[in-house]
Amino acid sequence: MKFEQIKQLDHEHVMNTYGRYDACIVSGKGATCVDVNGKKYIDFTSGIGVNSLGFADPDWVKAVSEQAGKLAHISNLFYTTPGLEVADTLCKKTGYSRVLFGNSGAEANEGAIKTARKYSFDKYGPGRATILTLVNSFHGRTVTTLAATGQDVFHNYFFPFTEGFKHAPAGDMAAVKAADDGSLCAVMVEFVQGEGGVIPLEETFVKRLAEWCKEKDILLIADEVQTGIGRTGKLLASQHFDILPDITTLAKGLGGGLPIGAFMVTDKLKDVMGASSHGTTFGMNPIVCAGANVVLKKVANDKFLKEVIMKGEKIRACLSLCPEVEDITGLGLMIGIKLRTKKSADVVKACLAKGLLVLTAKEKVRLLPPLTISDKELSEGIRILWDVLNQP
Ligand SMILES: *Cc1c(COP(=O)(O)O)cnc(C)c1O
Repeated sequence: MKFEQIKQLDHEHVMNTYGRYDACIVSGKGATCVDVNGKKYIDFTSGIGVNSLGFADPDWVKAVSEQAGKLAHISNLFYTTPGLEVADTLCKKTGYSRVLFGNSGAEANEGAIKTARKYSFDKYGPGRATILTLVNSFHGRTVTTLAATGQDVFHNYFFPFTEGFKHAPAGDMAAVKAADDGSLCAVMVEFVQGEGGVIPLEETFVKRLAEWCKEKDILLIADEVQTGIGRTGKLLASQHFDILPDITTLAKGLGGGLPIGAFMVTDKLKDVMGASSHGTTFGMNPIVCAGANVVLKKVANDKFLKEVIMKGEKIRACLSLCPEVEDITGLGLMIGIKLRTKKSADVVKACLAKGLLVLTAKEKVRLLPPLTISDKELSEGIRILWDVLNQP
């Protein structure tokens, strides 16, 4: 099929909810992919933080294909081993006690929200179900996770949204405390606000928030859908702060390219979600989990995570010298670039034309390269971005 026909088909028969980049990607290897016309691109997007091992990692492909040939699905009515292995590794590497699997980030957050509300209901009874999230956060696209998302642009059309969410400005402990009218059961945060513009929370705020939540028996939920699984140079971004939130949610990078979501709870919450309290048909799917096991085997490793930090530092060191760059934010290989004069959407287009895929986050250019990106691909991508930013 020719690219023009592909676009026509997409336009005709897929709901027009996405503003797509002007390319149809057909294959990839490492951090390089190829479009339908044979043009190559260096990938600084990882499919929005998903392809943590890049395209077609040989070990991932082998594990997923072998599992597909053995058992694709049987349902949660039976025991299966690939997901058990993921849960076991996650718990051993993070200090959490139990994991429940779903299929996406929004779903993981829904699970966390349900768990927090049930914990509070079981212990304190009704009326203590409000969840505080931060202004400018992003937590997903379901009716409930839209309500959780602290950006008014998302609170439109789909009324009525789920009740029981409040928002406070990031970094503002006084506002957090003021929001507590006795009805709070949890506070949910991203340690680096991703969609909101790659904005990290301040360490003092995170630590004070964690302490305050503990004092009040208000659960701290970490939405690590984007920051988790090595993206920031630690397995979990919470490990930068030496804290273990009561609940952490994961998705994007955990599967290495297949749809997965998960939320993990501490020992205190391990029995909150009992029989029939939650579930999903595809959760803990054997193929998806076979892929996740390969991701964890590679990423949950100090040497690998150190390299993630070094790759991030290389990008920062190079691009901070660029006159068009006003500021660089983020952690590890989650990078936001604030520009002086150019529009991020124009930079995306110019990069695409020159063979580099980058993202935007609000007014910033956002980079989420595969964690395994080679030095050569990294240098080439930086060079293209540098050229684009320095074009008049
Ligand atoms: C992407 C994202 C989500 C939503 O994940 P989906 O898999 O798209 O449902 C939720 N929270 C954060 C922080 C995200 O980056």
